[in-house]
Amino acid sequence: MADTTDPGDAFVGRPDHSVYETDEPVLYAVADRVATVTLNRPKYHNAQNSQMTYALDAALRRAVDDDAVKVIVLRGGGKHFSAGHDIGTPGRDLDHSYPRASLWWDHVNKPGAERLYVREQEVYLGMCRRWHDLPKPTIAMVHGACIAGGLMLAWVCDLIVASDDAFFQDPVLRMGIPGVEYFAHVHEMNPRLAKEFLFLGERMSAQRAHEIGMVNRVVPRAALESTVHAIAAKIASQPRMGLSLAKTVVNRIEEMQGLRSAMDLAFGYHHFAHAHSQVLGAGELGGQDAASMIRANKKDAP
Ligand code: ZN
Repeated sequence: MADTTDPGDAFVGRPDHSVYETDEPVLYAVADRVATVTLNRPKYHNAQNSQMTYALDAALRRAVDDDAVKVIVLRGGGKHFSAGHDIGTPGRDLDHSYPRASLWWDHVNKPGAERLYVREQEVYLGMCRRWHDLPKPTIAMVHGACIAGGLMLAWVCDLIVASDDAFFQDPVLRMGIPGVEYFAHVHEMNPRLAKEFLFLGERMSAQRAHEIGMVNRVVPRAALESTVHAIAAKIASQPRMGLSLAKTVVNRIEEMQGLRSAMDLAFGYHHFAHAHSQVLGAGELGGQDAASMIRANKKDAP
């Protein structure tokens, strides 16, 4: 008789019904020592499914491995930077297995709260931390919506340059969840603003984000690309190791200021919220779905 009592051993997993609309959820191009990585699900406002996060991880590794690349620009294709994590497109692939980027086991056939906890350790928290620590400088080029999971992609970059039509928003408290998985809120803004940002879930304009120091530059939409490329070109003229060392020092100081441990703490509460919602029979997202979140966000829009 087996000596294990792990109730998960008998679990058979859930079927994967995801259907991808593209084979290229991320585009990659290099010119003038700058790699441009483009989120490429414009039909769904660059909602992040696992297909996209693994493709993004691969594109960033490619840029790090390429000696011709000094700087990485991350942008969104289509009308918006990113509407966040995929919570409702046909390509939502929560139960699709991918070769993993971390040493976490596969979440796909796991029971209870283990499935989502392990998945988010890998594709959200783990990957964002990897990307934040990429040894080459990164610039987020943000236009349109940068919502929830979109914030995570902008925040992991070293610089954020936004067009004047960009806005930033973390509305996940409506799901009963205390903010997105990569909880940098209190490092990106002061605690009082972070509470306002979380409690109200309202859009923060690019201008406001610039005033509070979350965004480096705000420029007219027509000047966004040229501004980012001018900044990237100037950074690309600096020595590779110097850039990497400067980035490392700043990132390690952010950790000394509590970024890493704050995020671990928040991740625990985040997963209490997912599990609480499931215990209540409301699914993982507090009874919300993509349609209800879009409706509520439209009602909130200025
Ligand atoms: Zn989550």
